[in-house]
Amino acid sequence: MGVAGVSLFGMVAAFGTVAEGAAVGLFAQKQVVESLPLPATLMAEPLEAEAAGFLHEERVQRGDTVAELLQRLGVNDREALEFLRQNASTQLLFRQLSPGKNLTARTTQEGGLQTLVFPLNGGKDMALVVERQDKGFAAKEQPLQLETQVVMKSAEVRHSLFGASDAAGIPDSVATALADIFGGDIDFHRDLRRGDRFAVIYESITHLGRAVRSGRILAAEFTNNGKTYRAAWFADPVGGENAGGYYTADGKSIRKAFLRSPLEFSRITSGFTTARFHPVLQKWRAHKGIDYGAPTGTRIKATGDGVVDFVGVKGGYGKVVVLRHQSRYTTLYGHLSGFASGLRKGNRVNQGDIIGFVGATGLASGPHLHYEFRIGDVHQNPLAIALPSAPPLTAQQLGRFKVQTESHLARLDLIRSLNLAQVD
Ligand SMILES: [Zn+2]
Repeated sequence: MGVAGVSLFGMVAAFGTVAEGAAVGLFAQKQVVESLPLPATLMAEPLEAEAAGFLHEERVQRGDTVAELLQRLGVNDREALEFLRQNASTQLLFRQLSPGKNLTARTTQEGGLQTLVFPLNGGKDMALVVERQDKGFAAKEQPLQLETQVVMKSAEVRHSLFGASDAAGIPDSVATALADIFGGDIDFHRDLRRGDRFAVIYESITHLGRAVRSGRILAAEFTNNGKTYRAAWFADPVGGENAGGYYTADGKSIRKAFLRSPLEFSRITSGFTTARFHPVLQKWRAHKGIDYGAPTGTRIKATGDGVVDFVGVKGGYGKVVVLRHQSRYTTLYGHLSGFASGLRKGNRVNQGDIIGFVGATGLASGPHLHYEFRIGDVHQNPLAIALPSAPPLTAQQLGRFKVQTESHLARLDLIRSLNLAQVD
């Protein structure tokens, strides 16, 4: 039969994805994750297996050879391997065999190669396509046939954001984008709690029903420590100043003038283990800064738009960067192992730009970031003060925003009502 090889693609394509604008089947296609035992119908499309051959997909592992990959792809075709080895245009396959790439192969029942699709480097979504012809094989470079699907997923945080996103099958890039969107309200390094939940609607760029990469997050909701934040993407079609950003349901920008945390959120810095490094708030008055424990080399972001006021070495701070924001605010980042290349006094930086790397220079017992926040040269606890937001949408924009985001926000409502229904 070969059902396993074929139907996998139909399943992956239908399961966990919601066709844009499709209201029907929303329940059936809802991705089920962690503790959400919702009904899910696997709507594997009956592919025409006999006519189309068998479709296999494999991810390149470190150390793979082309021969090993072909074997895993179910290709048992000496002639095909010879062609790949000897044809000039297929040498890219050997040179760009980087781990993580997905190859797809269509074969006959006996393992004869019919089509091989190999994504090429360069970010242009080109692929090397090898096809069996009447006489032998032919290889050519052609654009990958990509489709955009809208995916809706939800998860509960148990140990870390990445633990939750892994369990829900959410790509890392979506998890970090989620942390970026809510980074003005939630410090993902110290605020995450067991039982936090999130729902996210994002674009997935697919090839043959398999995700090639993720696109933009369209809408998301994050419940942290009992408080729910919600944001939807909006780019004003009329143009003007709004090149696109995330807004709350009532049109306020989710973006704050300052990020809650200067550390880049990543797998390394994710998780509750960093709780050991929580600042001792009782010591705040004496310390006048917050220490973020993180491995040497962890990337540090400018928490707000500003200008570099100082970059260099300064006493106990070691290597330090000071930024000035809107003249009143300054932020300081100490004990760095190094600075972003080319960073000079007077440079303009945008919120989220990488300015340096965690280290242990100066008076530091181990690698950590020492972060200070001052208003008018007076130290403030950034965790305790209300930070200003970016401007809200105008009344006209709000109307367009509502039209654009209505269906996404309705889906978030739906996920929430399903989640609440789970609570006894
Ligand atoms: Zn410190």
